[in-house]
Amino acid sequence: MDHKRIFTPGVKPPSDNGKPAWWFAFQGTKLLIEPNGSSAAIPFDSHIDRLGLRILRQNFLGYLHEHPCYAVELADGIKLPEGLSLEGLRQVYGRVDEDIFWLAARAIQIVDWDRTHQFCSRCGNPTVSRQTERSKECTKCGQIHFPRIAPAVIVLVERGNQLLLARSRHFAPGMYSVLAGFVEPGETLEETVAREVKEESGILVKDIRYFSSQPWPFPHSLMIGFTAHYAGGEITLEDSEVEAAGWFTADNLPPQPGKISIARKLIDWFVEKQKRKL
Ligand SMILES: [Zn+2]
Repeated sequence: MDHKRIFTPGVKPPSDNGKPAWWFAFQGTKLLIEPNGSSAAIPFDSHIDRLGLRILRQNFLGYLHEHPCYAVELADGIKLPEGLSLEGLRQVYGRVDEDIFWLAARAIQIVDWDRTHQFCSRCGNPTVSRQTERSKECTKCGQIHFPRIAPAVIVLVERGNQLLLARSRHFAPGMYSVLAGFVEPGETLEETVAREVKEESGILVKDIRYFSSQPWPFPHSLMIGFTAHYAGGEITLEDSEVEAAGWFTADNLPPQPGKISIARKLIDWFVEKQKRKL
């Protein structure tokens, strides 16, 4: 797989020079792909019109290795040309290059924002896209509307050679993961980490350290990963979302989230660290 292409974001589309572009086209939450055995491709053509689809809106995203990239909203109920299909983003993961997948994750958030911000949430009049940045301006009251991003923390808590995992009621049967939760207005990320771990498990934490972050397009989160150490408390489940939690060692882990997620990257990091200690 090619991971060396550079993506340069932008909002002002280039003048048409006939160069092929990447088209990240969505109908609802489904992405238009060309399946090819176990892999898939994103339409790469000079004009998406050539695919014979009805386009509602399009947004320029930027350039991937000099090729323009567009986020496109397709009309409902269109008949797809032969060789194309519409599939959920999760089903596309692992079938396209990693950089293409994360561009699709970016595109779906722009499509969703564009669709839901055609009118001003303050006064109800139509908005127009601004040319200088990714935002929309109300034609009546001038209010500026930016794409929504909901920050959420996700944290791996360690206690000696164990890590804290929990099960949400919404998880697949048997699956456990690290704890996560949305940032509330007025909180620092570290405060969110401490609050979420306490609320969901009853555990107190210290040594909260940044790990890495990941955009999460279901529907528009930014997951901000942390590690932390156990500082006290017993596991108590008062949060109705969490149905089980426990301390696990690296050699005795329950089923975990897929490799797409930062949750899995945190767990893998812990497992690797334990292996190095042996
Ligand atoms: Zn307005």
